[in-house]
Amino acid sequence: MFSHVEPYAGDPILGLMDKHKQDPRADKVNLGVGVYFDNDGKLPVLNCVQKAEAQIANPPKPRPYLPMDGLPGYRAACQNLLFGKDAQVLKDKRVATTATIGGSGALKVGADFIHAWFPQAKCYVSDPTWANHIGIFEGSGFAVGKYPYYDAATNGIKFDELIAFLNTLQAHDVVLLHPCCHNPTGVDLTQAQWDQVLEVVKAKNLLAFMDIAYQGFGEDMDADVYAIRKAVDMGLLFFVSNSFSKNLSLYGERVGGLSVVCKDEAQAKAVQGQLQFNIRRIYSSPPSHGGHVVDIVMNDDALFNEWVQEVYVMRDRIKDMRQKLRDSLEAKLPGRSFEYITKQNGMFSYTGLTPEQVARIIKDFGIYMVANGRISVAGLNASNIDYVANAMAEVLKD
Ligand code: PMP
Repeated sequence: MFSHVEPYAGDPILGLMDKHKQDPRADKVNLGVGVYFDNDGKLPVLNCVQKAEAQIANPPKPRPYLPMDGLPGYRAACQNLLFGKDAQVLKDKRVATTATIGGSGALKVGADFIHAWFPQAKCYVSDPTWANHIGIFEGSGFAVGKYPYYDAATNGIKFDELIAFLNTLQAHDVVLLHPCCHNPTGVDLTQAQWDQVLEVVKAKNLLAFMDIAYQGFGEDMDADVYAIRKAVDMGLLFFVSNSFSKNLSLYGERVGGLSVVCKDEAQAKAVQGQLQFNIRRIYSSPPSHGGHVVDIVMNDDALFNEWVQEVYVMRDRIKDMRQKLRDSLEAKLPGRSFEYITKQNGMFSYTGLTPEQVARIIKDFGIYMVANGRISVAGLNASNIDYVANAMAEVLKD
C-alpha cells in the first residue's frame, strides 16, 4: 500500500534540535531554533501568562469549540497591536481578522485564500527568508520566486536591486515582507526604505503579505509595525500574519492571527466569511487554551502593560548578548569589525559563517546553528557566551 511513499529528509531546523538533544557534550549550545531562552537557558513562562492561566484554571471551565475565527477579544487584540488601538481603519471596520494556528497557520490560511481568489498570482519572498515561507506558499499551489534582499558583502540590503526587481512584477503578485526582525538575517529595512518599497507595491498594484512573528523584539511594539501602519496610511489593501509564539513565549499553544485590510466594511465581511470557510475545511476552529490566554492578557490593562515590559526584558537581553558577542569577537580578532551583530534586530544574526565553518563549529564545539550561518542570539547567555565567542573566533580566524 505505501511502498511508493518517499522518505522525508526532515526539516533542517527541527532536525538540528534533535541532533543537539542527542549530543552528549556538557558544553553543547543550541543556537539553531528560533526560540527565546532566558539567561538560565530556560524557556520562560511569562508572569502575565501565569496570571491568565490561574484565571482560566480557577474555577475549572468547560471547553466548547471556539468560533472558526477565534474569540472576539483575541481578534481585537491582534488588530489593536498591529494597527493601533484608535486606528481609523479599525473604526471603519475595514480589517478582517481571524485567529490561526500560530503564525504558520496564518500564512497557510492566507496563502490558500490568495491562491483561490488570485490564481494567476506568483509569490515572491526575500532572498533569503524563513524556509517555511517557501514551503507553505508552494504547498498552497504558488510558484515562489525570490526578490533580492541580503547583501553579504555589506551585511546590508541590496536595496536598489530590490526596488528594481519589485518594479518587474505583475499586478496582484504577492510580496512576502518581514515588518521587523527579519528571519534569518536580522537585517531590516529603514523607515525611509519601507516608504519606497510600499510606493512600488502601490504603483504596481502588488499584494503585500506582511509576516510579523517578533513584534516587540526589534525597537518597540509600535516602531516594529511601522510598515503595517504606513501601508494603511497609503491606502493599500494587504495581508498581515502575526504570531504570539515568541512574544508571549507560547510556542506550543499555536497562537497566531491573520488580518486582511480591505476597502470597506462590506468587503471585510466577505473576506472574513471566506477565511472562515477555509478554516472550516482545514481544521474547523483554533485551539482554546492559548486563545483564552491571549484574550485575557491583551484585554486587561494591567496584564497588558506587564506583558509589554516582559517582552522588553527579552528584547534587551538579546541586545546585551549581541553587544557582548561583538565586543568579544572584536577583541579576539583585532582589525575585524563585527558591528553588524549589533546593527541587526530581533532574535537572529546572520554570522557570515560558511557552511564549512558551521559544520566545524558543530563537530568540534557542539554549537548548533543553521547551515546558512544563522544563529539565534536568544540561545546565548552569561554561561555560554565566552565559549561561543571563542569557538566562532577559532573557525573564523583561518
Ligand atoms: N514567520 C516567521 C518569520 C517566523 O520566524 C516564524 C517562526 N519561526 C513564523 C512565521 C511561524 O510562527 P509560529 O511558530 O507561530 O507558527
